[in-house]
Amino acid sequence: MWIFLNDKFVKEEEAVVSVFDHGFLYGDGVYETLRSYGNRVFMRDQHIARLFRSANAIGLTIPLPMTAWPDLLHQAMHRNGVGNAKQDAYIRITVSRGVGEIGLDPALCPTPTVVMMAKPLVSPAPRLYEEGVSLIVAKTRRNLPSALSPHIKATNFLNNILAKREAIAAGAFDSLLLNWQDHLTECTVSNLFFVTTGRLHTPAVECGILDGITREIVLRLARERHLPVEEGRFTVEQLRRADECFLTNTSMEIMPVTSIDRHTIGTGKPGPVTEMLRSSFLGSREQFLEPVL
Ligand code: PLP
Repeated sequence: MWIFLNDKFVKEEEAVVSVFDHGFLYGDGVYETLRSYGNRVFMRDQHIARLFRSANAIGLTIPLPMTAWPDLLHQAMHRNGVGNAKQDAYIRITVSRGVGEIGLDPALCPTPTVVMMAKPLVSPAPRLYEEGVSLIVAKTRRNLPSALSPHIKATNFLNNILAKREAIAAGAFDSLLLNWQDHLTECTVSNLFFVTTGRLHTPAVECGILDGITREIVLRLARERHLPVEEGRFTVEQLRRADECFLTNTSMEIMPVTSIDRHTIGTGKPGPVTEMLRSSFLGSREQFLEPVL
């Protein structure tokens, strides 16, 4: 694999970062994951913009301008033989505070470390989309936004990792995290939606979630199809009584959920609104891809 490291592409074996990198020492950094459909990156500019917003929120200056990224993304895909008619790409960009003496002051790190990797996208098994997945409600709470805003896609992912450990221990697909007020937030790498009597619900951004790019598209598709939509504060009880539930993220798209804490949601099968939104998403995907090169 060829990795973009700081200013050039290097072989995987040479793509090493110092033990003094503050990304390693303190989780001081930001990242973004993108995907392509063929050679076209999904919501490219929105992902790049979010990377810069995350960096800005922690006072980190990304050493490459926003305009450099589209070309770099394509170089990364091309060099790794992905992002083509045969193979969709998974791309991860990481920018850490960089190398510096031990200590929390960001000024100890004069130059941020930039890493980009592109590899084959591995999608969840088709069976999961057909049958739906199981969730548990994690004991781990989502970070308090005033302590560490979930809007920042930070390389310190322990909050989500602890919740993921709970899901693995319970044999569930993933964990759903509640916030400090017992309201629903999101799963470890995806946003949450549920449907009750034909109304689509999703936790409001103020509940303390990452404002997912796929979430935004699903809300737009739902409104275009005149589906009533509610962004608000919801409880586990409301979710348990829902007819349908699903998750969204860039690489998974729309994934039906059919049980929460072993309690069956709706009929226990992916529901009609989920299926409608999934086919709308797949059908209108073209408009969310970067222009043809
Ligand atoms: N929530 C969290 C915590 C995530 O890490 C992600 C994606 O990685 C999402 C939601 C979904 O975001 P997106 O649709 O932009 O991929």
